[in-house]
Amino acid sequence: MKLSDGIYLIEGENHGRYPFCNCIFIKNGRCLLDSGAGESISSLNPEVIINSHWHEDHIPKNCIAKRVLAHELDANAIENFEEFKRRYGIGDFVKIFVNFEFCKVSETFGDGDILEFGVDIETIHTPGHSLGHCCFLIDGEILYLGDIDLTSFGPWYGCLDCNVDDFVTSIRKVRKIVEKGVEIAVPSHGPAVFGKEKILSSLDRYLEKIFEREERIKELGFKNSDFRKLGFEESLVGRGIIYKKLPEPKEVYGHFEKVMIEKHLERLGHR
Ligand SMILES: [Zn+2]
Repeated sequence: MKLSDGIYLIEGENHGRYPFCNCIFIKNGRCLLDSGAGESISSLNPEVIINSHWHEDHIPKNCIAKRVLAHELDANAIENFEEFKRRYGIGDFVKIFVNFEFCKVSETFGDGDILEFGVDIETIHTPGHSLGHCCFLIDGEILYLGDIDLTSFGPWYGCLDCNVDDFVTSIRKVRKIVEKGVEIAVPSHGPAVFGKEKILSSLDRYLEKIFEREERIKELGFKNSDFRKLGFEESLVGRGIIYKKLPEPKEVYGHFEKVMIEKHLERLGHR
């Protein structure tokens, strides 16, 4: 879908649902934002791929480009399986997420850098979902949101480098940028959102999920302080706080839910 002159939304297979993601292609700069849309992106023949973050659904075809760019805090996990595995924190289970080759990151960037690839791409460091997660503002108009993905599921923070406070701050940071006049927002896993007011209300709804989860945890009244030693049942896993129904394999998704609940408890001062 054409978003603007020479700028295209490349919808991921299965409407960009995991394990695919939506990408943006900038024709003049032969530049692709993320590489998880599926087989179709090979025919775009991109020279540069810029990653929003290190997760497997955003980096699987990085090798098709000559240059790969990423934020300095995520580069290591993008190019190195051992660091990828460490951040997931699920041991060898991590292999179920990896069916691609890891490729070198050729250049890194920080926050607020302007990358010039036929258009100006401003990097917006938005940690929370990952340490080096970034959104990208193209020519001040089109915002690629990465995994601030505006889904009804809400924010995901099940890895070791995720942080709930940072996620909240990042959503608010993006909100301020949208307020200045962004009219097109492209999340990695859902339909593009058009119109400033609609983008703002989608961000608000998305942020609200974090506080709803927190309320639910408070309602259930958690007391024990040695959280890590607890089994799923006692640590409120499987009660619909994060996942309405735990996906398979339950060891893995139960672990993610436990990590996410634990991060809330840290925030609530229970540990
Ligand atoms: Zn992700």
